[in-house]
Amino acid sequence: MRRESWDVVVAGAGVAGLFCALNLPEKTRTLVICKEDAATCDSMLAQGGMCTLANPADREAWIADTLAAGHNENNRAAVEAMVDGSPAVTRALVELGVEFDRSPDGRLDYTREGAHSRPRIVHRADTTGAAVTEALLAAVRALPWVEVREHSPMEDLLVEGEGKGRRCVGLLARDGGGPVELLANACVLACGGVGGLYERSTNYPCLTGDAIRACERHGVATEHLDWVQIHPTSLFTDKPGRAFLISESCRGEGAVLVGANGERFCDELAPRDVVSAAIRKQMEREGSRFVRLDFSAVGEDVVRGHFAHIYETCLAAGHDILAEPVPVVPAQHYLMGGIACDLWGRTSMTGLFTCGETACCGVHGKNRLASNSLLESLVFSARCAEAISGRAPRVAPGAAHPKTAEAC
Ligand SMILES: Cc1cc2nc3c(=O)[nH]c(=O)nc-3n(C[C@H](O)[C@H](O)[C@H](O)COP(=O)(O)OP(=O)(O)OC[C@H]3O[C@@H](n4cnc5c(N)ncnc54)[C@H](O)[C@@H]3O)c2cc1C
Repeated sequence: MRRESWDVVVAGAGVAGLFCALNLPEKTRTLVICKEDAATCDSMLAQGGMCTLANPADREAWIADTLAAGHNENNRAAVEAMVDGSPAVTRALVELGVEFDRSPDGRLDYTREGAHSRPRIVHRADTTGAAVTEALLAAVRALPWVEVREHSPMEDLLVEGEGKGRRCVGLLARDGGGPVELLANACVLACGGVGGLYERSTNYPCLTGDAIRACERHGVATEHLDWVQIHPTSLFTDKPGRAFLISESCRGEGAVLVGANGERFCDELAPRDVVSAAIRKQMEREGSRFVRLDFSAVGEDVVRGHFAHIYETCLAAGHDILAEPVPVVPAQHYLMGGIACDLWGRTSMTGLFTCGETACCGVHGKNRLASNSLLESLVFSARCAEAISGRAPRVAPGAAHPKTAEAC
């Protein structure tokens, strides 16, 4: 068996894995592996945007919205860490070259999504995730002490010792040369969600919960694996493959759900689980396979500008959302549970860390609030890097950083 030695090995090259690698101290010899190519991750697909603290007065309202959406099953300390970490993360992304949309006076433009009491979401049209992930990937690839290795799936943990002395000493992976043992002082699992296990999901099919399965094999604690979010509005199609998401921000900007008779049947801005349940009920009532999303109240300039990607994709599928309501159906979208960890990404096994969608520090509770996920992945992956290094990271949510995103 081939063997390699690294300081840190990170499984996953979405925003969580990349931002963790970026925040490790200089010269930390780091290997980032991913299952397919680097572009094949859900981070690239994020449409609506990323929540941030636009104004100190919004702090309590945002925390309250997150707790309400999560059915108060959230870890409040994690929610506070996420909210308080958001200005530093936003600043870091701007410094890395992410060009969030701005209002004419040059300030960041904030949009709103379901279950948010205020606009607090920064965005880059409807392809925010690609803008953020591409910037992070370029920054990581520029670090001479980090290697990003594509088509290199992690297959297992390498564990040594007995009982409480057990520790993770590396990952077993596979690459073009066959199986390889990647030995490391610290391993980070950032393998994203589980949508690939579902028939209908907005996730990439390759995201199949591999890290969670490896943890369960070795007795590493996981939790709330049944807390799975179903997104209300994916584009209805008979074709197999990844379901195309129609972002919640469309409803935030005025699109409404209608039944076969053209009438509304629910509050479109309720939390996702509530809206998905209402759609299911409506479909049962009508005996239909979808409901429709009506964009009539959204200005044509907003559809063609802010929602250009959604507009074009629907058009390519034969639906002109400017001309008629588009058929939509709920689809699996996000895992709130995952590998149990503390607010620094530490799992129940020494040497093993986790961040991003595959991790569960309890921040989302039972139902994630829209656009909290990119942010959560970024805030907690930076903290994870901090825990691994035992030193202040180069980009840290903390006192020396802006208190709100206004300064960005
Ligand atoms: C369509 C869509 C739209 C979304 N819109 C938003 C939004 O607007 N705002 C928001 O906040 N969130 C949004 N989300 C959620 C958000 O994008 C994700 O939760 C977040 O990006 C997860 O980041 P991650 O780094 O944890 O995982 P991912 O970005 O999914 O990356 C997972 C990585 O793990 C790798 N991997 C998987 N298995 C293995 C393995 N066995 N070995 C090695 N590597 C492996 C993959 O190759 C990939 O590189 C959206 C999600 C989807 C699907």
